[in-house]
Amino acid sequence: MTLQDVAVVGAGLAGLVCARRLQQAGYAVTVLEKSRGLGGRMATRRIDGSPLDHGARYVQPQSSQFQALTQHWLDQQLLTPWQPHTYRLDLIGQLHPNPLTAPCYVAPAGMSALGKALATGLTVHRQQRVTAIALESDTTWTITTTRTDDGTALTHDAKTLVLALPAPQIADLLAPLPEIEEIAEMKRAIAAVTYAPCLTVMAQYTSTSQAPAPLPCPPTEPWMVEGHVETPFFWVGLDSSKRQVPGLNVVLHSSDRFAEPWLDAPNLQPAGEALLAQAGKLIAPWLAHPDRWQIHRWRYARVETPGRDRILISSTPAPLVAGGDWGGDRQLDTALESGWAAAAAIQAHFSDNPLPDFPIGLF
Ligand SMILES: Cc1cc2nc3c(=O)[nH]c(=O)nc-3n(C[C@H](O)[C@H](O)[C@H](O)COP(=O)(O)OP(=O)(O)OC[C@H]3O[C@@H](n4cnc5c(N)ncnc54)[C@H](O)[C@@H]3O)c2cc1C
Repeated sequence: MTLQDVAVVGAGLAGLVCARRLQQAGYAVTVLEKSRGLGGRMATRRIDGSPLDHGARYVQPQSSQFQALTQHWLDQQLLTPWQPHTYRLDLIGQLHPNPLTAPCYVAPAGMSALGKALATGLTVHRQQRVTAIALESDTTWTITTTRTDDGTALTHDAKTLVLALPAPQIADLLAPLPEIEEIAEMKRAIAAVTYAPCLTVMAQYTSTSQAPAPLPCPPTEPWMVEGHVETPFFWVGLDSSKRQVPGLNVVLHSSDRFAEPWLDAPNLQPAGEALLAQAGKLIAPWLAHPDRWQIHRWRYARVETPGRDRILISSTPAPLVAGGDWGGDRQLDTALESGWAAAAAIQAHFSDNPLPDFPIGLF
């Protein structure tokens, strides 16, 4: 395997932004991703040919950088504005209007289309789970992967390693590394980060019943409901209103409290049934009876306790950079900033010339 300048582990927003910026600056970059899809938690699953966003629901950019990237995606027609009726559940499960405080954008082709677009032109080795990282010499990282389809073990060598993953997954890879001071400090900072889990039900309906429902708007118009920690829901929304698809698709994200007891359960079917039944009770009766549904477990859905820095760096002996959305509390915004900062830090290690300012190197 050729020695790469940089290996980036994780093809989520943070990893892809970092890889793109470095490749455009002339580095030889390779990306290693355990899943088949690109974009990480900007995730879309097709059920019966219909895309449903089961990870990030929408884009609501806060920083000027993410606003610029959002505008680029709007120009590329990868994003479009979404103006749902918005409600919130209170602690006793009653619905109240809850107007959006900032513009909201969705991806008609599915959120994973954003990852796919960012990965264009990059070398991404998909379905390779990184199982170990080791310093081969003072100048080379050896990264061991296992192919998720056939279990084959492979290795990749790189002068610099970027781990763009949820913090606990970074901790697992760092654990066997020698306790040199910079890496020990990185381990301590990573260990302080915590994530909230989530169970996500993707449900399809051919029709809605006319039975009176707490949901005040017509069920076929765009709508979303923010949950409350005391209810089983973090968020429920009409996913099919983000795009032209037949029938109604609804995505239900559980609260972290609901998800906790199910984190290691071998069978999530009863959890999905309970969420659908609760949605039928609290939001609209027809939600309890989908034609078909699937459930996904997110062990690391949203950052609960963020780290203090956008990225963590160990510069000796060979550079190691850790990044991802855990470097702040603004989810996609933070992931973008972290990936961008990781690329800048690597350039600063190898050169006195800083990389060009945003967005040069991104699109
Ligand atoms: C249910 C849900 C709803 C959300 N809603 C929103 C929202 O509406 N708006 C918003 O801004 N944010 C939202 N978020 C959060 C947002 O999706 C994340 O903050 C963001 O996508 C994180 O990007 P990242 O690059 O840091 O990490 P990730 O997207 O998690 O990328 C990490 C990548 O690393 C890969 N990986 C992990 N371990 C390995 C390994 N050992 N080897 C190889 N690859 C590996 C993963 O497969 C993944 O592709 C939501 C998240 C969830 C789960």
